[in-house]
Amino acid sequence: MPTTSDKPQLFGTNGIRGIPNKDLSTEFSMEIGKAIGTHFGVPEIVMGRDTRDTGQMIFNAVSSGIMSTGITVVDLGILPTPAVQYYCKVKSVPGVVITASHNPPQFNGIKCIAADGTELERKSEEEIENIYYNKSYHQIGWENAGTMISDQNAASLYVHGVMSHVDVAAIKAKKFRVIVDTGNGAAFSTTPTLLRKLGCSMVTLNAFPDGMFTSRTSEPKPENLKDLISLMSKGGFDLGIAHDGDADRAVFIDEKGNFIDGDITLSLVVKSTIKKGDRVVTPVSSSDAINDLCKEAGVELIRTKVGAPIVSRTMIENQAKIGGEENGGIVFGPHQYCRDGAMTVALILNLMATHKKKISDLVKTVPEYHIFKTSVERHKDWKTLEPQILKYSESTLIDRLDGLKIYLENGWVLLRPSGTEPIIRVYGESKIKKRAEELALEYHALISGLQEEPSSL
Ligand code: MG
Repeated sequence: MPTTSDKPQLFGTNGIRGIPNKDLSTEFSMEIGKAIGTHFGVPEIVMGRDTRDTGQMIFNAVSSGIMSTGITVVDLGILPTPAVQYYCKVKSVPGVVITASHNPPQFNGIKCIAADGTELERKSEEEIENIYYNKSYHQIGWENAGTMISDQNAASLYVHGVMSHVDVAAIKAKKFRVIVDTGNGAAFSTTPTLLRKLGCSMVTLNAFPDGMFTSRTSEPKPENLKDLISLMSKGGFDLGIAHDGDADRAVFIDEKGNFIDGDITLSLVVKSTIKKGDRVVTPVSSSDAINDLCKEAGVELIRTKVGAPIVSRTMIENQAKIGGEENGGIVFGPHQYCRDGAMTVALILNLMATHKKKISDLVKTVPEYHIFKTSVERHKDWKTLEPQILKYSESTLIDRLDGLKIYLENGWVLLRPSGTEPIIRVYGESKIKKRAEELALEYHALISGLQEEPSSL
């Protein structure tokens, strides 16, 4: 088969993304369905989607393509991405999720899942792209076309799967009061169901499926969670919970209304679940607090490039127990090797119940670090900027795994060109809050200056 190296790559870090009826047409989606069906060549493929208004349209196009190659499509309906992944893992069936995660409502996407529940490897995505570009679809007669069936049990299977990893009796005994903001996204039913089964009394916020994300932007950042933070700050609740659009991530608000950074959530999960001999995986961008915790517990820490599929894949290769990023995406290996928002919720409640502590007190038990994040527009090639940045920095300790992570006095700075936007992300971390900001702003100014007058150094 001819290669397609001269053709654009279709799959990005989280599947194919685009705007339906524009760059993600139904015709294209149907052909991608044919390519997916041809690639997998199995009796059944599972499909799910998030709450976006264009979800049914893209679902129908992709599923038509898949059925045309002789495969039965199992429709799981609207579900969090990790719930579809869990179903794939349990049933050993590959899957497709129609989702654009936390992107604005005009976007949608096609994400493929391997039969072990993990995100598809790049090698398989390339094969799907080759099939698409060569139009080498599996041809069958009308009598062998696939059909569509539905399975209503996927949500229940998922919730029970999550519960099997925590001390349900201990959590129930605490009768936690929580507010959960599912942001009009795919966890509108699964996370409230999980919380009810864990004996929590709850107030749900934005827990109705709305593909326009009318209530709030689906990225769970503090500035988008003002209602939840305001309600939590009034007191009377133990924990505030928010998901992104497809609920593979969860973020938390303490009982006083303080947003808990994703790095701290990851530290809490690492601290409470690891044992000597375990392995932890996290990208270069997350906090040194993870280093401290792993060192203290005698646990190996493996750093990767930034990106959830890289973290999951590295976890599988190393049989790691915990992985995750600083954006609230946590992977709990014993459950499944993908980011899972509901699993993260259950682990945090488990920690609160078994340690009999408020979430704000638990936060104080992890090493205190501060990260300051900013970004700078990129007008010049990274390859041109990199040596100039190195020339400026006097550090002798530099990690080049993903961009430049430069260790300096009382902290580090990470400079990383974005894979999706013409910007350079700048992170500064230190135990001293002011120093973290100082580091990030110093290098922000440096990169801006280098792009204006390269000869000034
Ligand atoms: Mg997501």
